[in-house]
Amino acid sequence: MDIWSKEKRSAVMAKIRGKDTRPERIVRRYLFSRGYRYRKNVKSLPGTPDIVLRKYGLVIFVHGCFWHGHGDSHIPHSRIEYWTNKIEANKKRDQRDKAELLRMGWNVLTIWECQLKPAVREQTLKEMEYLINQSYLDLLRKKAERKARRSSRCKAIKDSKQGGKREDNHKGKGEYPTPPVNNSLAAERLS
Ligand SMILES: [Zn+2]
Repeated sequence: MDIWSKEKRSAVMAKIRGKDTRPERIVRRYLFSRGYRYRKNVKSLPGTPDIVLRKYGLVIFVHGCFWHGHGDSHIPHSRIEYWTNKIEANKKRDQRDKAELLRMGWNVLTIWECQLKPAVREQTLKEMEYLINQSYLDLLRKKAERKARRSSRCKAIKDSKQGGKREDNHKGKGEYPTPPVNNSLAAERLS
């Protein structure tokens, strides 16, 4: 039984498609089956990423080729300028969102609709999984680097407390900025 009129049904379908498109479902289903847990449509991040794998430091966008201007998608001849402008604006926004996410320390992966066509789908999903794990290693490396920086900072402070050895230790290496000697904080401590 059809409970909706034709118009209502297509409006509802459009809404559903916007929220959870078929390409996105393919990716999510695969991730879930492989044991990855994720959040979807995360509004608190730039561009509302379709999939967020926090533990792996990765966000994934699944982009429709037409809307996001991938390759030479066919633009309808009617209102060609309207579509071209719209798609260009989408592309600019995508770039901005991606740059912002990278600045925030996320890795960003874009999967295109055309990469999920049956003939290439399996390859794409496998590559995605590889990149997820690369992202995880990248995250671990960044964490280790941060930790190393923190502990060398602590060491520098400890050295400086042990009779000002700090300057000698790091002279010429340019690793640590030399603190100004006559700053007010130092003066205060001396008095
Ligand atoms: Zn494409």
